Amino acid sequence: MAKKSSVGDSFHLPAFAEGHTAMKVIVVGGVVAFILLFITAEVLNRTLKPSEAQRTEIRHAESPFNGERAYADLKRIVEIGPRPAGSEEAARTRDYIKRELTAAGLEVSEQAFDASTPIGVRKMVNLTGIVQGTKPGALAIGNHYDTKYFPEFRFVGANDGGSTTAWMIEFARTLGAKRAGRSVWLIFFDGEEAFKEWSDTDSLYGSREYVVKLREQHRLDEIKVMVNVDMIGDCYLGINRDGGAPDWLASIVWNVADRLGYGKHFLSMPQTVQDDHIPFRRAGVPALELIDFSYGGSVLEHQRNWHTPNDTIEKVCPASLQAVGDVVYHSLAELDTYFDDNGRR
Ligand SMILES: [Zn+2]
Repeated sequence: MAKKSSVGDSFHLPAFAEGHTAMKVIVVGGVVAFILLFITAEVLNRTLKPSEAQRTEIRHAESPFNGERAYADLKRIVEIGPRPAGSEEAARTRDYIKRELTAAGLEVSEQAFDASTPIGVRKMVNLTGIVQGTKPGALAIGNHYDTKYFPEFRFVGANDGGSTTAWMIEFARTLGAKRAGRSVWLIFFDGEEAFKEWSDTDSLYGSREYVVKLREQHRLDEIKVMVNVDMIGDCYLGINRDGGAPDWLASIVWNVADRLGYGKHFLSMPQTVQDDHIPFRRAGVPALELIDFSYGGSVLEHQRNWHTPNDTIEKVCPASLQAVGDVVYHSLAELDTYFDDNGRR
């Protein structure tokens, strides 16, 4: 109980003032603590739980690309099982890609090579499907079809490796044999994943080889632009803007995304990731990476899903494949216009 004080009691006045200050400190402290707790809870929530607002929902497609059909391809690819570079399953995946691309009217070529990896020499094969254009030069779209080698558990890579392989097959159908504009090269890289720890020599085997060969053949200049897709099947799609890409290139794609109503999935926060576009960028080709590197929509979900046995098909949504299909489809026309207006790179 507080000691009662009376006016004029000089002894008690300071005591009253002290008590008042202490009360203020307690109240202010309490408010600050409450705010801090609230902020912490919000940060934790975002770290642990995906935001449902981020979930991809499509009312109608914005292009001939069909996300459901791509998802059906993904089921077939995941059923093949783990597909590390050099495996029998990787060869079966290639057979599937070649069959579907050929059926879509594309000209398909193989580039086989021996890669020295930390677990020995592995046979690898890059695949390219070409959509013939009416103008000189090519717009390249890349992805990797291998899955990371995990002998200790079953890794089917539904999103990491699978989603873009299926997406590219459907993209080939969307474009068909010919298009008005520049040719489109759909490149399926082998050996993107490291066999042990990611390093300059243990990663990107297929794309590094591809650029070496293009340079040897003096064909690097043919490629006007390279867009690489990876892990774009996440039901909670969030693609950060590639901080290493030329601004004009990222702007073309991000403006298309905004125009089509996919702004919430194409985030303005920049991020740079090492992937198959890097060897092209180092060779001077304008390159852009499209990757959702928050698999599952939160930091915790990403930890649970990326490069783990949880990278399974139910975490991939047709709507996300559709959104990226629509955006890249319309970006190609914008890129053609850009290169028409700016002859040089
Ligand atoms: Zn990976």
